[in-house]
Amino acid sequence: MQLTDLSMLELAEKLAAGQVSSVEATRACLERIQRVDSTIRAFLRVDEKGALAAAEASDARRRAGTPASALDGVPVGLKDLFLTKGLETTAGSRVLEGFVPPMDATVVRLLREAGLPLLGKLNLDEFAMGSSNESSAYFPTHNPWDVTRTPGGSSGGSAAAVAAREVYGALGTDTGGSIRQPAAFTNTVGLKPTYGRVSRYGVIAYASSLDQPGPMTRTVADAAALLQVLAGHDPLDSTSAPVKTPDYSAELEGGVRGLKLGVPREYFAEGMDPEVEAAVRGALREYERLGATLVDVSLPHTRYALATYYLIAPAEASSNLARYDGVRYGLRAKDAKGLKELYALTRERGFGAEAKRRIMLGTYALSAGYYDAYYLRAQKVRTLIREDFTRAFQQVDALLAPISPVAPFKLGEKVNDPLSMYLTDVYTLPCNLAGVPGLSVPCGFTKAGLPVGLQVLGRAFDEALLLRIARAFEREHDFFRRLAPV
Ligand code: GLN
Repeated sequence: MQLTDLSMLELAEKLAAGQVSSVEATRACLERIQRVDSTIRAFLRVDEKGALAAAEASDARRRAGTPASALDGVPVGLKDLFLTKGLETTAGSRVLEGFVPPMDATVVRLLREAGLPLLGKLNLDEFAMGSSNESSAYFPTHNPWDVTRTPGGSSGGSAAAVAAREVYGALGTDTGGSIRQPAAFTNTVGLKPTYGRVSRYGVIAYASSLDQPGPMTRTVADAAALLQVLAGHDPLDSTSAPVKTPDYSAELEGGVRGLKLGVPREYFAEGMDPEVEAAVRGALREYERLGATLVDVSLPHTRYALATYYLIAPAEASSNLARYDGVRYGLRAKDAKGLKELYALTRERGFGAEAKRRIMLGTYALSAGYYDAYYLRAQKVRTLIREDFTRAFQQVDALLAPISPVAPFKLGEKVNDPLSMYLTDVYTLPCNLAGVPGLSVPCGFTKAGLPVGLQVLGRAFDEALLLRIARAFEREHDFFRRLAPV
């Protein structure tokens, strides 16, 4: 077993016992990055100096017996959507190339205060728009389980880095599945918290009413520990919820005996990969064996979620992306004659095809003649989708479902067919539209050795229960102990 194979909490234990230093762990990650990242390509930027300086400071605190947190000294990575003071942040876009933020996102500040060395910035689909990492303006990331395949998206760099043991954990963001789907594709754990649980301040906006940052880790206990650092009310984010943060590790081992777990029938639609379905159904049987009662439930508006999401998310994106005009951030078309041409040329050169597609879709949906027919109607359907969940949670404690109808697909396979790419998100989007928390936990492999994830969905602010449910399954299996063959 190598140092980089440890989970976050295993490493934290060794740091606390003085058996290993944060500098050693950070160097081990940097060496691993050096060795494997030319194949995986998870990193857009490695911050060797910054990470080592933070590790040294952490070791000094440990020596003085004053660690800043339980995870003090555990090195992690950040999706390149989080603002990092003094370190370039691009959102995977040319339009932000060279942009060095003057401030940290709230969650980045929280990680620094908790003493976690930050190893660098991880690849993503441009502005988090995509499901495969292929819309990154820089390069696609490869899946450590099969490098000809996608690690998923948009937090694909984060998931791949965690699976390849280049980092002990990472932050991702999830607007329509971008934490959960890459976690499922890489045999890692990903949690999208309740909307409002984790601050969005300093997270580059894609679709503001849906975006939510969260932890990506190798174990459920690590996800709980990392969420503990991130969660909490932030006055700088007006949608941050003023609710108390529970102890996420306290009930982790509580099991599922006596719980009622709903199985939404709309989440097992035709067209699903039979091997993915078999792995998920196997997990359902396991929950019964562990003492939970499975209940057949219906979320009848699920079939409208895709259309609803692809009106609301692009509408918000078209508004959020209006600020990249060549005046304030990143790219500027210096040869432009006049202000209008500056806007046009900067945006023409700075945005990739997918971002342009979303801007056009969103602008259309919001335009005067179509607002009522598209945007307004989508908002009404969003309410119906949220009510589906409210009704289901009157019957059951949580829901179990697949994450993706397919296993990790080949790089290049769907890139020229946006609709088939969008369709891979059918089971993750409703959670964001409803604002409830969702988690992905490894639940098996296909015959070809590709990871499959199980989705656990819960009531708003019920992350602790989701983690407990996921842990009950994880405890019975060694899936999470299996290491990607990179
Ligand atoms: N794949 C979805 C999209 O392209 C979700 C992305 C995300 O959650 N950021 O919008």
